Amino acid sequence: MNSTLITQSKPVNLTLEQNTKIMPKSPKKSSNKSKRKTPIKKSLQAPKQDVSANIARKKSFPSGLWTKCPDCGNVLFNKTLEENMQVCDKCDYHFIIGAKDRLAQIIDKGSFTELYEKLRSKDPLQFKGSKSYTEKLKQSQKITGLDEACIVGHGKLNNKKIAFGVTDSRFIMGSMGSVVGEKLTRIIEYAIKEKLPLVIVSGSGGGARMYEGALSLMQMAKTSAALSKLDKAGLSFISVLTNPTMGGVMASFAALGDLIVAEPKALIGFAGPRVIEQTIRQKLPKDFQTSEFLLEHGLIDIVSSRKEMKDCLSRLLKYLA
Ligand SMILES: [Zn+2]
Repeated sequence: MNSTLITQSKPVNLTLEQNTKIMPKSPKKSSNKSKRKTPIKKSLQAPKQDVSANIARKKSFPSGLWTKCPDCGNVLFNKTLEENMQVCDKCDYHFIIGAKDRLAQIIDKGSFTELYEKLRSKDPLQFKGSKSYTEKLKQSQKITGLDEACIVGHGKLNNKKIAFGVTDSRFIMGSMGSVVGEKLTRIIEYAIKEKLPLVIVSGSGGGARMYEGALSLMQMAKTSAALSKLDKAGLSFISVLTNPTMGGVMASFAALGDLIVAEPKALIGFAGPRVIEQTIRQKLPKDFQTSEFLLEHGLIDIVSSRKEMKDCLSRLLKYLA
């Protein structure tokens, strides 16, 4: 989650405002000290009382109750945010959520069977940077509670059986290494074997996982080739893009859906806007690489809010059947 837990900083601002409001009321700068004394004393006393009240208030609010929306800046009650599927009810900002939450939102309760869960990444290049690849994997496993950046399996969506995959952008930025590529390829092959429609929800700010060098790049070709077989078998693939879906993920399986659905305001593209601007030496349009911009320009078919996503996918699956 890129959400920010905040402490109660607003009351402090209020006392400052009160203070500044009191100050102008004091008489204009004059040499008469007796006239100045009273208002200044008042302004000095007021914050003291407010600060202690503020500390008391701080103590009465346990941490982890509130989250600040990174888009509109409003402070949201965590319980409301949870009831709202991690969507800001003030500005419709869709917070980044993990693969397990996503699965729970889309697949019918109790119907999911995970497949190929025992696949594990190796460190073929013995990659060393500020952190080794092995350390990075362990760190991501701890943060997400997942063994790898994606979960695949089969389950029901509004009572219709589907093959399903979801990536987690919190796990090494949801990048596609050998295991993610292999799991996705296997679930595509499973869909072909079982004659099931396929839905993959992508979230990847990283694209290909460069800790694995060329091996990660090969996953782009592998997943794309498998999807070509799915297409030839006459089966449907719906690709769901979430914030962010970039790089090698967007340049392979994520862009190959028969229908492409995206969450609102998601960052979607290949290279980041700064790199593109530097390369073409032109100013990019506003909202470039957002779901709405890409819908308008034909890359995406539908932008659906998270709350309507399950019903939207259900309707599309019926349409494609
Ligand atoms: Zn907001």
